[in-house]
Amino acid sequence: MPRYADILLPLAQPTYSFSVPEGVEIGVGDAVAVQFGPRNTYTGIVWRLHDRRPDVKRVKSIGRRLYDYPLVDEAQMRLWEWMAEYYMCSLGEVMRMALPSMIKPQGSSEEDFRAEEFQPRKESYLSLAPQWQDRAALKAECERIARRAPRRKALLEVIADFPKESLNSYGEMPRRLVDCDSAMLAALRKAGYISVAERERSVEQVREKMFRLPELTAQQATALSQIKQSWEQGRNVHLLHGITGSGKTEVYIHLIAKALSEEKDVLLLLPEIALTSQLIERLERVFGSRVTAYHSKLSNLRRTEIYLRMMRSRGGELVVGARSALFLPFKRLGVVVVDEEHDSSYKQSDTAPRYNGRDCATILASMHGAKTLLSSATPSLESYANSQWGKYGYSRLTERYGEARPPRIILSETMRSVKRGERKAHFNQPLLRAISEALERGEQVMLFQNRRGFSPYVGCKECGWTLRCPNCNVTLTMHRGKNRMECHYCGHSEEIPRVCPQCKRADIHTMGFGTERVEEAISEIFPEARVARLDRDTSTSISAYNRIIKSFESGETDILVGTQMITKGFDFGRVSVVGILNADNMISSPDFRSSERAFQLMTQVAGRAGRREREGVVVVQSSEVDNPVIGWVLRGDYEAMARSELQERHAFAYPPYSHIVQFTMRHEDPRLLLGGATNFAQLLRDSFGRRVIGPVAPPIDRIRGVYALRIMIKIESGRSMAKARELIRKALAQIAEQKSYKPISIAIDVDPQ
Ligand code: ADP
Ligand code: ZN
Ligand code: ZN
Repeated sequence: MPRYADILLPLAQPTYSFSVPEGVEIGVGDAVAVQFGPRNTYTGIVWRLHDRRPDVKRVKSIGRRLYDYPLVDEAQMRLWEWMAEYYMCSLGEVMRMALPSMIKPQGSSEEDFRAEEFQPRKESYLSLAPQWQDRAALKAECERIARRAPRRKALLEVIADFPKESLNSYGEMPRRLVDCDSAMLAALRKAGYISVAERERSVEQVREKMFRLPELTAQQATALSQIKQSWEQGRNVHLLHGITGSGKTEVYIHLIAKALSEEKDVLLLLPEIALTSQLIERLERVFGSRVTAYHSKLSNLRRTEIYLRMMRSRGGELVVGARSALFLPFKRLGVVVVDEEHDSSYKQSDTAPRYNGRDCATILASMHGAKTLLSSATPSLESYANSQWGKYGYSRLTERYGEARPPRIILSETMRSVKRGERKAHFNQPLLRAISEALERGEQVMLFQNRRGFSPYVGCKECGWTLRCPNCNVTLTMHRGKNRMECHYCGHSEEIPRVCPQCKRADIHTMGFGTERVEEAISEIFPEARVARLDRDTSTSISAYNRIIKSFESGETDILVGTQMITKGFDFGRVSVVGILNADNMISSPDFRSSERAFQLMTQVAGRAGRREREGVVVVQSSEVDNPVIGWVLRGDYEAMARSELQERHAFAYPPYSHIVQFTMRHEDPRLLLGGATNFAQLLRDSFGRRVIGPVAPPIDRIRGVYALRIMIKIESGRSMAKARELIRKALAQIAEQKSYKPISIAIDVDPQ
């Protein structure tokens, strides 16, 4: 046995060397308890075993081993290492995020640690004792005892007749399926009729093999065979670009079925899984209990059980998950599908590792020799460009399934409506007319506004004062239901002001509008309509969210008002009108991706209309009617958008023609921060020259009393990212040497969204 082990801890640290006590048998990937720091015990992962004595005075030794199988396998270790390198974070930060917390107990004492340790839920399983497995013998015995012990006889027959395909892999049936008390079971056991085993729950799973697959249309079938062919020819990533309602889901259901029938694992990633109960139900109708949902809203216990079950699986798993599902131990990964691949919520931006789930998915797949399918109605320009450059395969679905036609999109000019006196509250005449017609026909309406709350500003008409957050550089949003003003960044809340604190006049006005106000206004205009609202405020739990969706699905609600949340891949049959209330605030953000985003968002919202026989109508309300984005949305012309945007990105060396590395530096003292950021930018310029931009203030430059500044580097495609990372590390080391700037935090974001 090697004498030393490099152990990875769930801390923002590299690995540390420990000694392996005589007689202890451990292997790479095993979890062990280790003491680190004066009084902390952590779960560590054995990363490497060797005989090189570490260069410290006293080498501590590892504690006991925690599971009787490795907790992390070779493929996972390689993925973690790739992520730590590419996203420039520590391996420990990847570990901290990748493993469910219950799997990796920690504590300040041994008792603490033990108390936190995962205890699998156990379940009893029954089987006939070996001598009664013989049918004839059992039959004879049953007849013998029939008179004296009829209940015993009946029970033995139940156990003997339990359907073979529902037994676990030990040939046992779950105790909970036998209707009898424990005294009776104990008696049977004592008499030598049965054996009882305690086994971990949920390790065993009933597995259907036959799937009822939808028959594909000609266009879908062509796409399916293109995907298979392209994969076979060695292009491992394929982009499926199909308009909303074209049946992309049906196409990948076929790919999933094929992989599962070969006992390979499938990972289906969704941008926000807690919000996709509709799709999960649809998959369950085809794949039954094979579907395993995995996301952060599951209980810690459930996530831990799934992880450990996957660790011991032999393939044939279908995991439907949010980006965190990437970190499950897949044993025979065959296919990875990334649905709505353009969605920016695949990116984890707030904490390290700041990774993109879509990009990591393709890396994970390639490490397993598996294939990736990216699917979207509005692909990200990165993926689209890769398909144009021949790096990815590409298929297009241009027709909606069945009788459904793409919706008719109408532009309604807000300023003109105002001038003509045709605007009521936030709705122009054409939208009101469409809504009232839809309601008359018993159809449904969706209204999209990308701000929640009632009103995003309140202020004084007289002196121009606006109510801002004391901790953040943003205005407070009015929430009428709660009767409070709230900050959407730090949670600060206060009363709704009645008089202006600056000029003391009682002329407080609300400006702008959010979903809450839209809900109120539309209810006033159509008092007979049943209106619901879907945003972060109304869907604080999964059940609240599901209630809103279910009631809209079943037709109990006529009008659904919502934020981005209503755009996510829903398939509601009776929606014939969709209103985009204010397209302008999407187009006019300063980000280089704003046109692409606005196009994606509007196209996705529009795609909720007319998904069955009835033609759908989408009304886009805007004042910027000449903006090209509006034109592309109206014509449904993704290619024109892509051509124009890619040209622009090329001219200014933005992705996909470059990689961006962004540094966000933060501190409470704006002067110290500016000094540190200026200095750091200079250090970067020494290596990267004109590729460095900044420091500049981000759109919201103070949150919770902490100021922020940003520096960005654009590294043109074709340049070595490895070399760039090396130079960045050098600059980071240099700034770390300057004591006065030490308290400034630096967050690194590679490929920011
Ligand atoms: P997309 O994912 O491209 O938006 P969906 O897969 O959700 O499209 O398909 C839209 C609707 O059309 C769904 O209700 C789906 O069940 C139906 N549909 C699509 N293709 C087929 C098919 N080949 N057979 C039966 N129904 C289909
Ligand atoms: Zn005032
Ligand atoms: Zn705030």
